[in-house]
Amino acid sequence: MPGGKMHEMINVAVLMVTISGLIYFTTLKEPAEFINYLNAYTILIFAAAYVFATFFLSPDLDIDSKPYKRWGILRVLWWPYKVIFKHRGFSHNPILGPLSILINLALIVVPLLLLAGFGMQNLPAGFIIATIAGIVLSIEVHIISDAFISKMKSAF
Ligand SMILES: [Zn+2]
Repeated sequence: MPGGKMHEMINVAVLMVTISGLIYFTTLKEPAEFINYLNAYTILIFAAAYVFATFFLSPDLDIDSKPYKRWGILRVLWWPYKVIFKHRGFSHNPILGPLSILINLALIVVPLLLLAGFGMQNLPAGFIIATIAGIVLSIEVHIISDAFISKMKSAF
C-alpha cells in the first residue's frame, strides 16, 4: 500500500488532470447538460474540497495516520471512527468508505453550523454538490491507489 506522501502525490496529480478536463469541458461549443453547473466558482469549490479531503479526510483515518494527526486536538472527533473501523476495512470500501467519512464529517460540521446560527437551507445546491464531489473523488482515488498497488505487489 502506498505511504501517506505517495497518496498525496497521486491525489494531487489526479486533481490536475481532472481540473484540466473540467476546464476543457467549459470551452466546448456544444456542452453537455452537466456543464451548466461548471463555472469558475464550482470548479474552485470542488478543488478546495478535494485538496482538504486529500490531507484531512483520507480513508487512512482508520489508523494513526498523518491525516488523523493533522486534526490536532480535534482528532478526538475522529477517534470513534478509528476505533470502530479496522484498517482497510469499511473505510477502504468504494461505497462505505466515502459514505462513512461524509457522515462523520457531517456529525462534526452540521452542529457547528447550527450553533453558529447558519441555516443549512442557505447553502446553494451547486456549493454542496461541488464539495461532496471533491471529497468523494479524493477518497475514491485513495482507495483505487491502495487496491491497484497491492494488486501490483501480489503480482510480483
Ligand atoms: Zn489507505
